[in-house]
Amino acid sequence: MTPDDYDQLFSESHDRPAFSNGTEGYGWMAANCDRCIHDKPARENDDARGCPLVLITLVGRTPRQFIDGPRDEQGRYGIATQHVCTEFRGEDDPDPNPQPVPTGPGQGELLPRQPYEGVRMLMPLSPEDRAAVDFRESVEAGLTEDFSAFSRRMDAANTTARRA
Ligand code: SF4
Repeated sequence: MTPDDYDQLFSESHDRPAFSNGTEGYGWMAANCDRCIHDKPARENDDARGCPLVLITLVGRTPRQFIDGPRDEQGRYGIATQHVCTEFRGEDDPDPNPQPVPTGPGQGELLPRQPYEGVRMLMPLSPEDRAAVDFRESVEAGLTEDFSAFSRRMDAANTTARRA
């Protein structure tokens, strides 16, 4: 990930703020970005080469690379851990690039692992993706209306449910 990836990262991000207020945002960044290799240039006064994900949060969106951190049973979270950034790399790490888990001692390898390794992120569906899945399942179950009509009906049902 580099600052040149900003447009792509922006287009993938969620259209909702990452933080409830400035205290949460700056607290999270102090705990994470202030020791991350990706924002090191900004700490050295080269903001243009700083982390593009920070910029995305500053314009009121949530990067797709932020996944929810731990919550207690009441849904409460810590400021430093409310998100886990999958792109975080400690600036003091000897090699900040992600490395594959080493093959365990005595474990055989039939094939070289490297071409088959990658990052897999399991995330909750966005409301838009959820609606698309619901629509597909409804069509399979016999629904005949189009997606626009289906979406309007679901929005109306959700609004009614929220008012109840
Ligand atoms: S990669 Fe994540 S943790 Fe690192 S500076 Fe960017 S937003 Fe912060």
